[in-house]
Amino acid sequence: RAGSVDRSTQGSSITLNSDEDNINVVIRVRPVNEKERSVRERNMLEFPGKGQIICHGTAPGQKPKVFSYNVVFEPAATQDDVLEYSGIKRLLEMAVEGFSCTAFCYGQTGSGKTHTLTGPPGLVESGASPYSPDHGLVVRSFVYLFRLIRDQPDSHFVLKASFLEIYNEKVIDLLNPGSSRKPLQVRWSKESRSFYVENLFMVDCEELDDLFAVLEEGMRNRAVGSHAMNSNSSRSHTLLCVRVRKDVRTAGDVTCSTHGKINFVDLAGSEMTKRTNSTGKTLEEANNINRSLMVLGYCIAQLSDGKKRGHIPYRDSKLTKLLADSLAGNGVTLMIACIAPTKSNLSETINTLRYAARAKKIKSKPIVKMDARDALILSLKREVDTLQAENQHL
Ligand code: ADP
Ligand code: MG
Repeated sequence: RAGSVDRSTQGSSITLNSDEDNINVVIRVRPVNEKERSVRERNMLEFPGKGQIICHGTAPGQKPKVFSYNVVFEPAATQDDVLEYSGIKRLLEMAVEGFSCTAFCYGQTGSGKTHTLTGPPGLVESGASPYSPDHGLVVRSFVYLFRLIRDQPDSHFVLKASFLEIYNEKVIDLLNPGSSRKPLQVRWSKESRSFYVENLFMVDCEELDDLFAVLEEGMRNRAVGSHAMNSNSSRSHTLLCVRVRKDVRTAGDVTCSTHGKINFVDLAGSEMTKRTNSTGKTLEEANNINRSLMVLGYCIAQLSDGKKRGHIPYRDSKLTKLLADSLAGNGVTLMIACIAPTKSNLSETINTLRYAARAKKIKSKPIVKMDARDALILSLKREVDTLQAENQHL
């Protein structure tokens, strides 16, 4: 797909430069907030279109830095724009077909990660209608997912959702807050050849409302838990996972299943890596708070550097273990890098833009997750379908 598409919508709030990789990187810039406006903080970013961002004032007397991405959501972009143009729909379509997909938000605290995923503070917890225009990508994705499922009446679907938090390398079940006293273990499953969390609540979701209930419950527990632990959300990661089993009936009444999933990850603030290194915390504490974030950074760096393939340290943190299958190529990953436009945030903004540029280089080929027997049946079914279609043309 050569060339770039400029699909700017009203007020030129989004620009795209589209090609399809297995990691899709988009940038979202939040608007200048009230506080910044009241002190007349300078806006340092400029958007010339075609997925470009110009950063001014990086160093005295230096030329502005120019970064280029597939998609840039400018401050005027809406939550709906993010659903339509981030590529998330493709991830959801793939999850339904048996791939492991991940959408994660990366960026400094206050850059809009949680806003992008779940909307303004307290919206989900307040039980607002799922069709509220402020809802973030998670709720919008749930709606789209159910639309996809309704469009395939010949298949049977089983959806299960889980919602966890990783704080200080401890896994806490947000649907079972008692687990904060006894953190859950991450284990390897030989059968599915992937990591999983032992004893994690999996909620059957037959209807859209069931998914909303999972999100609402988890968000409420997160708010209560972070208060109790005297922690704050900028230090922890949350991972909401929807598993999608699809049963397809083939000729001769044989059923085969695909096992897809979509992870939504709200990462700890990216400034945490430096902050903990520079304080007087014990090495272990410092390591743990950021371990998942730092290891994710290493994994992305290694994956993007084709030469070093094979030494990707997924096992070094809880988060990367749980995301390994989608990062490693069983699916597609969407990274939403969130940035603030103002001067006081500039150095973090540049760090995030660099991290995003590095992630963009990752290339892998996604594969569907299913048993060998099911894979064979499905490939035979496809062959039969093709032959039947050809017959009809004869
Ligand atoms: P983070 O999760 O990265 O720490 P938040 O999502 O909590 O940041 O955003 C900080 C504040 O900025 C919140 O009040 C949020 O609603 C607001 N905000 C972030 N992004 C946007 C946006 N695109 N449009 C409007 N408000 C935003
Ligand atoms: Mg947040």
